Amino acid sequence: MSERDHSSYHEHVLDAADVCNSCHRVIRVKRLDPTRGGLADEEFEATFERRRQTTEIGYGPADSASNVKGVFCDRCGTESPYDRPWDDAEEAVSDDRFRELIQTTIRTLEYKGVTLHREDFARHALQQRRDDEHVDDCLGAATEAAIVAAVARGDFDGDADHAPDTEAHEVLST
Ligand SMILES: [Zn+2]
Repeated sequence: MSERDHSSYHEHVLDAADVCNSCHRVIRVKRLDPTRGGLADEEFEATFERRRQTTEIGYGPADSASNVKGVFCDRCGTESPYDRPWDDAEEAVSDDRFRELIQTTIRTLEYKGVTLHREDFARHALQQRRDDEHVDDCLGAATEAAIVAAVARGDFDGDADHAPDTEAHEVLST
């Protein structure tokens, strides 16, 4: 097996401190801070704020509310962007869940300024999934293919000039 380059997917989704690793939505907003250094744990709160659309403030049991207040993904209920309650190597990810991940991954990549061909992304991801690839391999390969496709076609806003792939289309329109 050749070495696969999924660097865009890793950089913008899996390794990104502002993206939920479980549902792939953007859950934090980067603050522009000129004094910002690395991403050490103690600097985390200082450089990211919660994104209101995708998170909620939760409270746990404790003596004082201020001690237990946390920011949680409102879809997954996870507090850390690096939490992932499912295993990408298992069958636990249903077809519906996988389709949702296709959509959220595309949105997140576009939010981050990545230009990609949406339908190519969906088609590629679904194909890899049928071949029983792990979820991250499917989405990583789809990311690279969709970026290449966008560049090759110079087609930044859609699928107007070639025959639509029905299943890929369906995923994108739900
Ligand atoms: Zn989530």
